[in-house]
Amino acid sequence: MDAPLYLRPRVDPPLADLLEDRSFLHSLVDALGSPLNVLLPEAVAGNVARFRAVYDRHRLTGRVYFAHKANGSSALVRRLAAGDPAAVGVDVASTEELRHALGSGFTGDRIMATGPKDPEFLWLAARVGATVNLDSPGELEQLAALVRAHGLGRVDVLVRLSGFESAPGHGGAGTRLLSRRSRFGTPVREARDLLTALERASDAVALTGAAYHLDTTGVEEKARALELCVLFLDDCRARGLAPRAVDIGGGFGVGYVRDAAEWERWTTALSEAVLGTRPPLTWRGHAYGLRNEGGTVRGAAALYPAHRPDAGPGYLDELLSLPAPALGRPPATLLLDHLHDLHIEPGRSLLDQCGMSLARVLDVRRVDADSGQYLVRLGMNAGDMSLEEHGVLVDPVLLPRAETDRGETDRDETNRGDRNRGDRGHGEPRSRGGTPAGVYLAGNLCLEGDLITRRLVHLPRLPRTGDLLAFANTAGYAMDFHAHRAQRQPLARTVAVQQAGGSWRWCPDEDYWPITPLGGTPA
Ligand SMILES: *Cc1c(COP(=O)(O)O)cnc(C)c1O
Repeated sequence: MDAPLYLRPRVDPPLADLLEDRSFLHSLVDALGSPLNVLLPEAVAGNVARFRAVYDRHRLTGRVYFAHKANGSSALVRRLAAGDPAAVGVDVASTEELRHALGSGFTGDRIMATGPKDPEFLWLAARVGATVNLDSPGELEQLAALVRAHGLGRVDVLVRLSGFESAPGHGGAGTRLLSRRSRFGTPVREARDLLTALERASDAVALTGAAYHLDTTGVEEKARALELCVLFLDDCRARGLAPRAVDIGGGFGVGYVRDAAEWERWTTALSEAVLGTRPPLTWRGHAYGLRNEGGTVRGAAALYPAHRPDAGPGYLDELLSLPAPALGRPPATLLLDHLHDLHIEPGRSLLDQCGMSLARVLDVRRVDADSGQYLVRLGMNAGDMSLEEHGVLVDPVLLPRAETDRGETDRDETNRGDRNRGDRGHGEPRSRGGTPAGVYLAGNLCLEGDLITRRLVHLPRLPRTGDLLAFANTAGYAMDFHAHRAQRQPLARTVAVQQAGGSWRWCPDEDYWPITPLGGTPA
């Protein structure tokens, strides 16, 4: 085999400590089955604190609204509800998420309702005093009508804007940032009509600010959008409205891969493989959107930039410090000068290091007689662990069974007697004992396309039946967003864990309440 191309995960404490406790993790999967989702509610509180430190550094006020859609867990939402009410809120995008937030301890005034909304969602949001982040002028009309018809109180609203582009002469050196098209929000060029509609509806709604959410890593584009929101709010103030906040959405990102050099090496190798100058490193030549056109790599790789040293709070800090193109002041100064609150809606980044997905190795066999590559079938499918679906490439951590319960593994493997395990004493495949192995990770569905990864994953040694693979950092979108019940395979159970007195305690996600110590007597 060529030199292994690792993409080892970035794991910090306490997630790193949890990965060290193999017997605990094995006992959890023994009891609760594979796949299993493990969450660390204390880690989400730590991330809130890191975002708040950026607010403090820039002397800004406003709320961190957790974008609920990133994870359906109760433990995480309850842990966040226990945080400082002035600092932490939740962003909900459906009636059920709203109900879940309310049932988890969030009061209506800490809830932001985003995305396109049906009448039930609008009514419940208005009824409990949530802020409605308006997606369109039509939604404004609908909300105002509901408020009037049902005698609800005046509802705080933000308007979500989209279609930002720099005005001629404002882009610097004649450049013109193209507007990013979005299905959501009201295009800024229609903002004047929106303002008129807001004035007409002022008996039913109170404008409290402007919002955007851009699905990009481009920090300049976001700074420009922030500026345009501030300018829009200036217009609103000039017309007698009294907005006081800019909501810059989410998209602060996560660094999944620890080592920049490994990321560089792998992406370079992918290009070489597409050009045919090195053997394929993906299943059946899958190229992640790249193609070879006459000896040149073309296309854009549909990959998340998995090595990101400055993601999350660091990215927010960078955005706030950037000299803004048109108004000449960094966004933080702009917000301070206007006395605007800053709201953010982080999903993925607030869940950085907050969880992992565990899968049992069911079967290990050679891809073919002579490739030296193996197919590892796991007790999970691509819906249970959907980093690949999001273009995030990062290695799992191998948690060998043998070091925790030798006898069970041997019995297990003798019973199966697979051809690949006939090589040595305990039916072990040849690359046992510290030799790196290249494996494809397949799921538990009878479906050719059910691959956990479509690339060759390098592990420090070949896994064996009964081992666990731990996919670190799956709390954001990867552990329950795409889960389904095809073939009646089990949905992953989810547990919350917490370290207490040197050992780990756990409880089912739905039984977690933010009362320490977990599983013990409430303090
Ligand atoms: C999805 C979403 C977010 C969260 O985005 P992340 O990339 O997970 O931070 C925030 N706001 C809105 C409106 C969203 O749709």
